Amino acid sequence: MSKPIKKIIIAGGGTAGWMTAAALSKLMGDSLDITLVESEQIGTVGVGEATIPTLIFFHRLLGIDEAEFLTATQATYKLGIRFENWRRVGHQYLHGFGVTGRDCWACGFQHFWLRARQLGIAGDFGEYCLERRAAEAGKFSHLPNNGLNYAFHFDASLYAKFLRQFSGRHGAKRVEGKIDQVKVNPDNGHISSLKLDNGDELDGDFFIDCTGMRALLIEKTLHTGFESWSHWLPCDGAVAVQTEAVEPPRPYTRSIARESAWQWRIPLQHRVGNGLVFASSYQSDDAACHQLAENIAGVPLTDPRLIKFQTGRRRKQWHKNCLAVGLSSGFLEPLESTSIHLIQQNIVRFLRLFPHREISQVAVDTFNREAEFDMERIRDFIILHYKVTERDDTEFWRYCRNMRIPDTLSAKIDLFRETGHVNRDGNELFVDSWQQVMFGQGLVPERYHPLVDVMSEEELRGFIQQVSQQIDGSMSQLKDHHEYLMDTLQKKAVAGVGALS
Ligand code: FAD
Repeated sequence: MSKPIKKIIIAGGGTAGWMTAAALSKLMGDSLDITLVESEQIGTVGVGEATIPTLIFFHRLLGIDEAEFLTATQATYKLGIRFENWRRVGHQYLHGFGVTGRDCWACGFQHFWLRARQLGIAGDFGEYCLERRAAEAGKFSHLPNNGLNYAFHFDASLYAKFLRQFSGRHGAKRVEGKIDQVKVNPDNGHISSLKLDNGDELDGDFFIDCTGMRALLIEKTLHTGFESWSHWLPCDGAVAVQTEAVEPPRPYTRSIARESAWQWRIPLQHRVGNGLVFASSYQSDDAACHQLAENIAGVPLTDPRLIKFQTGRRRKQWHKNCLAVGLSSGFLEPLESTSIHLIQQNIVRFLRLFPHREISQVAVDTFNREAEFDMERIRDFIILHYKVTERDDTEFWRYCRNMRIPDTLSAKIDLFRETGHVNRDGNELFVDSWQQVMFGQGLVPERYHPLVDVMSEEELRGFIQQVSQQIDGSMSQLKDHHEYLMDTLQKKAVAGVGALS
């Protein structure tokens, strides 16, 4: 039987480590002794600057003031991702963070839209999504009743610094040092302490592995195993560079498909984050660096940084008295900015199943099953972008088009193609996004729901117009994104930082 958990050691101080320290210290700091160890000499992965709307819930849970966060991390608002050249070269669509149109009880808006489109009385599918329209128009505002879904782009190193200060105020301790050895109790196989290069030893009841791709505790020590997904997601490298901004920040991430790669552009207040995610079987490191350098807009502020990765999941994200959070738990490439979401999912799931008295194997198994489900569904969504494409101009795209895909994804694609329906599997993260990306990538259902034919053409026209007018009404309340952001920061500056969260 394990002993009560009082002393928590967090190994690693990247985004994962500091998000974990912030949540545990704020929510359970009174009953826990929390120490984070990190090594400046090793540093962090240095990327991971685009998020999805769930981050707002994490910040609310912690009581983080949004304007304070925006100021501290040079953040901008994000309403979606624009996919350029993904369906075919020259084509683009925007995956916006909101619902498209209005569903009725029996069938989704896409069925009404499909018929209206056939009749020539509807515009593009995306025109009926407020967030997509706002993003394209460069607009933003907070609307009443959370009427506009949004996320952020932020500077990853400033975010870690911000959360480090936050965690410190809530009692988390920080230790600087390089972990040299992870000691294990031979009686039960639990981790007992971390030995640092200066000879210090940190003992604890529970250890959270946030050491990034090194996975020092969960893999190098506990050998929990890794399931590779590289046959479905062949990209295995990235080169990243920061540049000066050459235009006001757009409220969306750009994802531009290239011959054997794709490029991101993430606009912050003070600079732009750029990167090229590529498959090394099709493109060398040098060629990737060269391609990125050829396609950046502003003056580079940093040297290109090469990052190698493997997509897949750790077979057990919680094992014995060790939990993996962040890159140590596995990695899905950043196409839909989902890694930070998975960090917060693991943190919140751990808090719900927190082993107060002892580590329950049922809780551990539940955690691992749920974490696996989350990752697999997001994995399928990301594979969709590669698989459903008209591109066949390079070997890379021909591989993607023809590759076998997971059965779960095949079923989703077939269901949509044959019936126009998207099934939400359990509690999976993406719902409306599936339709936006399926339509965006060129997948068109063979038929729409027969219920739609109950409406006359006039009624259908009226319904589609109503949806449009509602979006027009919301659009008229939005401001220019950059001006709104500057205004928010200015108001915060005038009010002073105030009571820190
Ligand atoms: P790291 O940042 O690598 O931190 C590891 C920490 O462990 C560091 O503090 C390091 O010093 C410490 N450490 C390691 N070994 C030792 C040791 N021996 N002793 C002491 N300390 C040690 N996610 C998104 O949500 N959106 C994105 O847009 C996005 N883009 C990405 C682009 C790329 C190319 C990649 C590779 C990832 C991207 N991600 C993105 C993922 C995101 O970057 C990570 O999920 C996030 O940064 C968390 O990383 P981490 O904290 O797990 O690891």
